[in-house]
Amino acid sequence: MANGLTMDLAASSESLALMSVLGVTVRFGGILALDGIEFDVARGQICGLIGPNGAGKTTLFNCMNRLYHYQSGDILFEGQSIKATPTHQVARLGMGRTFQNLAIFRSMPVRDNVLVGAHSRSFCGFLSSALRLPRVQAEERRLRERADEIMDYLGLSPFRDRLVGDLPFGTQKRVELGRALAADPKLLMLDEPAAGLNHEELDALAQLIRDLRDRLKITVLLVEHHMSLVMGVSDHIVVLNFGRKIAEGPPGLIQSHPDVIEAYLGAQSARTAHPQAADPRPAALDYGTGGSHGQVA
Ligand code: ATP
Repeated sequence: MANGLTMDLAASSESLALMSVLGVTVRFGGILALDGIEFDVARGQICGLIGPNGAGKTTLFNCMNRLYHYQSGDILFEGQSIKATPTHQVARLGMGRTFQNLAIFRSMPVRDNVLVGAHSRSFCGFLSSALRLPRVQAEERRLRERADEIMDYLGLSPFRDRLVGDLPFGTQKRVELGRALAADPKLLMLDEPAAGLNHEELDALAQLIRDLRDRLKITVLLVEHHMSLVMGVSDHIVVLNFGRKIAEGPPGLIQSHPDVIEAYLGAQSARTAHPQAADPRPAALDYGTGGSHGQVA
């Protein structure tokens, strides 16, 4: 009985982690970009991943997407190692991503950009597609309907036939999000989604991220320098500095964690001493100042 209960508890805690990062280490020549990073991304949560510039956040995202190789450690997605997964198969596993520098086709219409994401979940092979078999046509109809639903959800339908390059930056970012959502991800990895957005767009983004979790049941991993946004939406936060994990926990704990404060203040004083290295994103240092989504301890 006790053994059965123990096993049940073990199984349920395992299923809570959608992704597990297990001692991941990455070196670029002499630079130790990630040094034995360990944490879980719990299913159904919004997990913030923060840290000063150069902390290793994007490197870790790139490892999760198999764009970079890790020299040691492993990353499990739904309990399975992704070490041998080819980059082009990552979306099929259920991982979607947006990029710091938008990954979209600027000279293509909005709808086609969103369809690109939907096609990553297509199950028709080269031959059946070339022969235009009936099941290919049925699937294409399904993918177009899915793209239309995503555009409706993101308020992109009025722009569906517009070239992405002609649209405002905030709308382009939503198109990229649409491309990622169209692949029906279980985990959505957002790399600095707030960068370049105005106040109104930031409010809408915070609502959207919560809605992804609450209504669409998508787990979100959020890399962001905009502290008010991260603190306002995250259930759990992991903090990196110089390639190491220095803290993790709920936002309230992270905001008052001495190592986190030190890491951010250190980055701030380095920039004050060397203004030529100033961060182009002043929000990186709004740590603890609150804001529309802030929960200042
Ligand atoms: P930011 O917030 O500025 O985007 P970050 O936390 O995402 O920073 P990374 O971009 O992951 O940090 O960089 C971590 C370290 O690894 C830095 O020292 C960076 O210069 C180095 N680095 C990242 N990618 C490469 C690469 N392809 N080749 C060599 N060094 C790299």
